[in-house]
Amino acid sequence: NLTDRLADTFKNLRGKGKLSPADIDGTVREIRRALLDADVALDVVKEFTGKVRERALSDEVSKALNPAQQVVQIVNEELVGILGGEQRRLRFAKTAPTVIMLAGLQGAGKTTLAGKLAKWLAGEGHTPLLVAADLQRPNAVTQLQVVGEQAGAQVFAPEPGNGVGNPVKVAKDSIRFAKDKQYDVVIVDTAGRLGVDAELMKQAGDIRKAVDPDEVLFVIDAMIGQDAVATAKAFQDGVDFTGVVLTKLDGDSRGGAALSVASVTGRPIIFASTGERLEDFEPFHPERMASRILDLGDILTLIEQAQKNFDEEEAKKVAEKFATDSFTLEDFLAQMQQLKKMGSLKGMLGMLPGARGMKEQLENFDESELTRTEAIIQSMTRSERLQPKLLNGSRRLRIARGSGTTVTEVNALVNRFEQAAKMMKTVAKGGMPQIPGMGPI
Ligand code: GDP
Ligand code: MG
Repeated sequence: NLTDRLADTFKNLRGKGKLSPADIDGTVREIRRALLDADVALDVVKEFTGKVRERALSDEVSKALNPAQQVVQIVNEELVGILGGEQRRLRFAKTAPTVIMLAGLQGAGKTTLAGKLAKWLAGEGHTPLLVAADLQRPNAVTQLQVVGEQAGAQVFAPEPGNGVGNPVKVAKDSIRFAKDKQYDVVIVDTAGRLGVDAELMKQAGDIRKAVDPDEVLFVIDAMIGQDAVATAKAFQDGVDFTGVVLTKLDGDSRGGAALSVASVTGRPIIFASTGERLEDFEPFHPERMASRILDLGDILTLIEQAQKNFDEEEAKKVAEKFATDSFTLEDFLAQMQQLKKMGSLKGMLGMLPGARGMKEQLENFDESELTRTEAIIQSMTRSERLQPKLLNGSRRLRIARGSGTTVTEVNALVNRFEQAAKMMKTVAKGGMPQIPGMGPI
């Protein structure tokens, strides 16, 4: 994948003092190939590598203390640039309701996104209304209702006999309904097709005209690769949109589509969707995406999610414990219980710097292991939890019996705890963690 390829490219530069023009050209060529293989559009690749090359050959690099690092920095900055530069926030109407229309191919993730947006907006103090303007597939309305229920949001759908089969009318009626009932954001879910076609564009265009949206979000599956650009352009010509939402960023092809779409359409990416659950969703930050692509570790996102879910006081205490070596198995248990609340563990671990190297472990990682781990720690006495050194053979056997596990599992847990404590101690002191062999923390 793109991240691996770029990492390999930069590896070749590491340890070199001065970089010759040949070194730079070689690097730029590798970056170019990596981007093309990741399905980034040719025009975008050309522009990108052109800028990187020019800067890399300039004083900026030749005068840098660490030229290789400076090249990575340049690539990072240029990546942020083609991803849109600054974060672009959702725009709200001056007078409610704000109308957000979703458009995109079938399966792109529009309906799921509608739920995610509703949940997120509700969390920000808004009262969103979901509108079922996808009347194409028989199940579409039901699907939105399920999602609405999960998100705790009201769904506006055609009443039997009134507007059935006419998404434009439903969309239009929903705005009046929202005004009457004082919903302040209206999210209009629309139908998609498997491919771009004229009828789809016409319908989307008609809905757009009927609801006069403040935002039209083009929803695109990050996994669609090479088709991303053509699809985005077709929607831009057919309906036009004010922003992009990338979905399925949890998949393997992180980057390619993202890098092309913002740049080719000149429209900012506003949100990213990273999984099937309603929580797997975040405002898009170009600089974070760039560092994720470069595997610099998405520390900022990690911290933000942690803050949202962790009790801040608690987090401070834990950090202190890490730093002073007084982190115990009891804290470990509390941490794991927090982690469980924090959304997909895989997603979280994927954001750690260097996590690329853990890919296999992440894929094999089984969340039910958390439950077994909890059982093991709960079978320990309080003094054992506070002083894992007490855990001799007979105690471990007792714990294994008590928790319905094996001594091997108990041993593995204790080892993992020791590694995690060591790693977190490094992090707490401001260093980079050593990941090899780490299990779930
Ligand atoms: P729509 O046809 O555009 O409305 O797409 P849906 O919202 O029905 O989503 C299509 C499928 O993609 C569903 O199975 C969703 O659960 C899944 N999906 C949506 N967003 C994501 C995402 O960010 N990651 C993953 N892995 N799956 C997603
Ligand atoms: Mg749908």
